[in-house]
Amino acid sequence: MKTDLEHYTVDQVLDGFVYNELEAKGLFGLAGRLTIQPEYQRHYIYGDGKRDVAVIDSLLKGYPLGLIYFNVNGDRLEVLDGQQRITSVGRFVTGKFAIKVDGKEQIFSSLSKDQQRKILDTRLDIYECQGTETEIKQWFQTINIAGVPLKAQELLNAIYSGPFVTKAKAEFSNSNNANMQKWRSYIKGDPKRQEILEVALDWVASPQARGIDAYLALHRQDQGITELKTYFTSVIDWVGGVFIRPPDKEMCGLEWGRLYELYHSNSYNVTELNKAVDDLRADPFVKYARGIYEYLLGGSKDTQLLDIRLFDDAIKRAAYEQQTQKAKAVGVSNCALCAHGDNANKTLIYALKEMDADHVRAWSKGGSTDLTNCEMLCAMHNRSKGNK
Ligand SMILES: [Zn+2]
Repeated sequence: MKTDLEHYTVDQVLDGFVYNELEAKGLFGLAGRLTIQPEYQRHYIYGDGKRDVAVIDSLLKGYPLGLIYFNVNGDRLEVLDGQQRITSVGRFVTGKFAIKVDGKEQIFSSLSKDQQRKILDTRLDIYECQGTETEIKQWFQTINIAGVPLKAQELLNAIYSGPFVTKAKAEFSNSNNANMQKWRSYIKGDPKRQEILEVALDWVASPQARGIDAYLALHRQDQGITELKTYFTSVIDWVGGVFIRPPDKEMCGLEWGRLYELYHSNSYNVTELNKAVDDLRADPFVKYARGIYEYLLGGSKDTQLLDIRLFDDAIKRAAYEQQTQKAKAVGVSNCALCAHGDNANKTLIYALKEMDADHVRAWSKGGSTDLTNCEMLCAMHNRSKGNK
């Protein structure tokens, strides 16, 4: 890859700068010759009143902004690295945000002429790079380790940039999408950081036994995203149809794609199912509320999903003492199952540490986790009784 160090002033770079609020993109500069946000770049994420302000602060203090990289594409240039910094300066100069100078809120036009000139005359060190697409993108991966690290999906978008990624981003990475609020109650992450798109891709790719990268490689040149969109909508609609409730906080970020694959062809009595969700959420023995949904979808069998509260040591000791004293009086084993069987352990008295607590009436059948429902069994019998 060939690189040349060039110098442009802020004024030159911002010539023709336009900021698109809707797409959160700085668009062009250098009198139209520079594309500030090529399609593989991420959205502008410096607009947080901290990082954008820090950029302007640096300029006013004469600190360097760091190296900026442009990619030479014919007679055009595109920003390879530095998009966030350039967009911050552009937004400030076009009056999009204010900074505090000497305790006073200032926008660009209210700064003194000297301060304005200081910003506009700042010389930026810019490497102009020429190379193959692969070289540029591999290198893009390397330089972006500095600064705000790329999310996995941002990197994949860069590597597989093309019509498919562009359309997919328009759908799943757009905070203004009317469905976004609903989606985000089931999916954890920031659409701008490509985390909703990542989940959508994972859902559609997993049943095909593909990773996201393989799926993107396969569809890179597709003009449409129908399969991705349809599958995603099916999952979301299924969740909303089965769990008819304003989404509980614990529902956010569950593996809905996997659960859809496993259970979407089952039929459920939706009213009962949602009543059961309410009951379990109100059950103090359920320690892991996020497991409730999968537990119910799976037919209320796998109590491990709920991390049911176990008997504590005081209850175990009390149960042990009570049944051991009784057993000794009759001359049988203090494990009731050993005592009943016809085996060598029929009269064996186990030590407390050799026994485990078991629910007499299973928790899943309404049995409580207290002394009245606690029975100590020898380790072997406890295991063979399986799940509580
Ligand atoms: Zn036993």
